Amino acid sequence: MEKICCRCKRNERDGRWVPAKDEDRRDFSYGFCPNCYQETLAEIKMASEYNRYPKAAELTV
Ligand SMILES: [Zn+2]
Repeated sequence: MEKICCRCKRNERDGRWVPAKDEDRRDFSYGFCPNCYQETLAEIKMASEYNRYPKAAELTV
């Protein structure tokens, strides 16, 4: 099964991430392309640092 990025809607085809056509979207599993994966990780990290949940802060000390 091919993967489609749930952020930028590109799909992996022959090792490259290309824009997906609507008719191609039926049999894909959703995930992140490498770019969006890194961006999403960075956003999660920034969000968790910004919010500073007490429990998370205790774990990292
Ligand atoms: Zn993407």
